[in-house]
Amino acid sequence: MPPVAFTARITEFDGTRRTAALSAAEADAVIDSALLFDEAAVTAGGERHGTLTITHSISHPPSACGTLPASRRWTAVLEAAHPVRPTLRQYEDLALLAAWEEEHPEGAMLTPAGAAATRFEHVPPASARHLLAAGWLTPDGGGAHGHVTVSYAGRIAMTLYQHRLRTGVVGAEAWASGAISGGWVACPPLYVEGCTCGWRGPAPSGDAAIVRGHGRDHRQGELQRLFVV
Ligand SMILES: [Zn+2]
Repeated sequence: MPPVAFTARITEFDGTRRTAALSAAEADAVIDSALLFDEAAVTAGGERHGTLTITHSISHPPSACGTLPASRRWTAVLEAAHPVRPTLRQYEDLALLAAWEEEHPEGAMLTPAGAAATRFEHVPPASARHLLAAGWLTPDGGGAHGHVTVSYAGRIAMTLYQHRLRTGVVGAEAWASGAISGGWVACPPLYVEGCTCGWRGPAPSGDAAIVRGHGRDHRQGELQRLFVV
């Protein structure tokens, strides 16, 4: 059994619901096929755990007897099966393999010892095993002579590593000038959102929920870019 990358909550066209465990390869196939069809969409969530919603719609001409709805929808909500918290080392290993894939879409070679090797560098066997177990690499099924590519789950993990949000507090005091002299007075705190990529929220706000919402929007936008064809 290949490692599980995502848990999918699926609503079929007829409305029945089921839960499925998807390997990295299965999830890649579901996402790639959705990206190919006009009547399908892949939407990233802005949460820290990288949720994806995939929808396929089918439109029918209105039926004469009126028994079929005019359109039906298939939905899968994919949630990462493992905490999406790669270490710096894991992020660097994934980035190395993703960069190699830009010129070599077949991916890195899986050596007999289990390393993921590009021409000049390699991810050692123990590290490669962890990446495979997390569902962050997709093996092509060729065993010891096969290749591995960075899965969508792995690309989500990389994006979440690059975009770690922080809420800071600014302006808890302000200088107020009085009739004779000024003084520092306490002010309600202002919150500001920042990201490890260098992004900063549009403006400080007294409402922490608002600035965190800007942060989630930023992260959602970055995740969504993974699913632009
Ligand atoms: Zn960012």
